[in-house]
Amino acid sequence: MQLARLHKLTDPDRRVIDIRSANGAPSGVHKAEVGVPCLNSANTRSPSPVSVLPRQTDASQPGEGSSSDEPTAVIPSVDWWITSRCNLRCDFCYGPERGKDPVRDRDAIVDALAHSAARVVTFCGGEPLLVSRIGDYAETLAKARKSVVLNTNGQLLGRLLMPRSGKPKLRLADFAVIGISVDGSTPEIHRSMRGEKAQHGKVVAAARLVGDEPGVRLKLATVVSSVNRDDLPALAEFVRDLKPDVWRLYQYSRRGEVNTGQLRHRLPDDEFRRLADLAGVRADPVPTAPSSETETEGCLIVDPAGNVLQPTGDTYIPYGNCLKEPLDDIWGRLPARSAIVSNKRWLSVLG
Ligand code: SF4
Repeated sequence: MQLARLHKLTDPDRRVIDIRSANGAPSGVHKAEVGVPCLNSANTRSPSPVSVLPRQTDASQPGEGSSSDEPTAVIPSVDWWITSRCNLRCDFCYGPERGKDPVRDRDAIVDALAHSAARVVTFCGGEPLLVSRIGDYAETLAKARKSVVLNTNGQLLGRLLMPRSGKPKLRLADFAVIGISVDGSTPEIHRSMRGEKAQHGKVVAAARLVGDEPGVRLKLATVVSSVNRDDLPALAEFVRDLKPDVWRLYQYSRRGEVNTGQLRHRLPDDEFRRLADLAGVRADPVPTAPSSETETEGCLIVDPAGNVLQPTGDTYIPYGNCLKEPLDDIWGRLPARSAIVSNKRWLSVLG
């Protein structure tokens, strides 16, 4: 079985990650996904425990039954909205509706994920570090041989890893990738995106903590909108100096119940692409991986109540509930598996 190949774009000056299958079909990348290793760059760290995904050609996507020797029940990645709570109030948020957070369901959802065919489980939300048992859940999933990813706004990570008293609330070693959001090169621009409570200094400190941890990939993540677009060149140099394994750039999306900032954030597709390309040049040698709004549809989400969702347009379509039937069964009847497989194909470079 061949592995998907990582290609930088043909322009040697660009460092935009473009994952293509062995047959040359382009694949997308997605906001809730994990980072990729810094291939061909100076800041490559030790290998990640993330599994290598099998190569799938367009004619033999998992679950589509078109090839008997390809896995049909492998779920490349699941994004778990573990909580709707957050310590920030970004007006571009497309996480779960706030206040709907059935805590009692979490143990059962972890169990469902652990017993599923998911290779990668990403904690997102909401802010996952507000969940007091996040360390226990990460350990459970890591023991179930899942590659565990944490997406965080970075405000609490330092405190949880190095509390003033008592034991740390989580172990970095249980995570394959830590993704941290940074939306500006300065505290002012970061706050203009994420609100007055967002502390740029804590983001930087958290990124350095993760960057110093062997075996854990650091992903920096930026939402690109009309608000921070002019800062992108400066942010690219800022990111370059933090030496992440990957820098993910997400076009602002209109999706979500709490996404109230459409008017000030909206950014056309072609403008996003142009900005992302320029940022890739400035961030060199850090690889960048841009994701447009449509590419974010290739995503399998489990919400705080166990509902299984897929983004489409400016909403989410429910396909079942993993507390009522196995996640693998829901995956098996999902009509848009190929979009998810394609979107997650770039995880194969993490082997
Ligand atoms: S985008 Fe992230 S940090 Fe901002 S409100 Fe939503 S969950 Fe919280």
